[in-house]
Amino acid sequence: MPATVIDGKSLAASLRATLKRTVDALAARGVRPGLAAILAGDDPASRVYVRNKARACAETGVHSEVHEFAQEVCENALLERIARLNADRAVHGILVQLPLPRQLDAGRLLAALAPAKDVDGFHAANLGLLLQGRPGVVPGTPAGVMRLLEHAGVPLAGRHAVIVGRSNIVGKPLALLLLQKDATVTICHSKTADLACVTRQADILVAAAGRPKLIGAAMVKAGACVIDVGVNRLADGKIAGDVDFNAVKEVAGWITPVPGGVGPMTVAMLIVNTVRAAELSIA
Ligand code: NDP
Repeated sequence: MPATVIDGKSLAASLRATLKRTVDALAARGVRPGLAAILAGDDPASRVYVRNKARACAETGVHSEVHEFAQEVCENALLERIARLNADRAVHGILVQLPLPRQLDAGRLLAALAPAKDVDGFHAANLGLLLQGRPGVVPGTPAGVMRLLEHAGVPLAGRHAVIVGRSNIVGKPLALLLLQKDATVTICHSKTADLACVTRQADILVAAAGRPKLIGAAMVKAGACVIDVGVNRLADGKIAGDVDFNAVKEVAGWITPVPGGVGPMTVAMLIVNTVRAAELSIA
């Protein structure tokens, strides 16, 4: 039997509808959640991502502003803007859209964010809290994956979760979240020997490598839940994930599509984090 397709697009839409009610209630108390995005350079994909985030803000009633900088911007200009936004009471969340132009040090810029306003959850303080299992801001993509798993009713406790990809923004934080839910977690990367041998053991397989069709049907255990985080632009301009969807759906128990799986959830969780930051600012 083909896999159940987990519909991230509709789950994200219902999450945004719930968020709108929370935002309206906050606005009635005089607080309008606000998100500032810093967009440096002319990467076309980054522009699309920032536009999608602004659209989600508009739909949920969150105030949004985009701070655009030229490709050759110097780091001090961005640090000054971050300091101003940190102090701005109308801004509850700040995100620095990655990747940045090569002369900029992403680590230094992320470290300059006030951790309470770091709604991407990339600041070392928030990642440290996640490591310790304490409340903090959780990055949107791993948080979105967890919501998808919960929504689909995928059992996690005692199951083997295999994540392909060890980045600070997807693979590593997701491993910690799965561990919190009592999964047994393996993280794979480009130096993993015999990747297929590891992925075939997965009850939950998350592909976050940025390699189209990296995961084929022979790499998936029958009935496994396969979550595709990958976003790859193909030569024909189409977007594809890391999973060979048509082949894997015949083997897996659950699968997320690309587009329409993890992507919309990432944006929705960013709004969740922004609204939460606004709530905490008045708590
Ligand atoms: P990175 O490039 O930072 O990390 C990719 C990871 O995959 C690395 O750990 C790398 O290993 C590993 N990897 C690469 N090739 C292979 C391979 N052949 N076999 C095994 N492991 C491999 O990417 P990100 O984590 O930022 O993003 C991953 C993907 O997810 C991208 O396609 C990105 O566009 C997408 N993405 C999607 C989001 C969404 O909302 N849907 C949000 C964020 C990202 P090593 O460390 O050894 O180099």
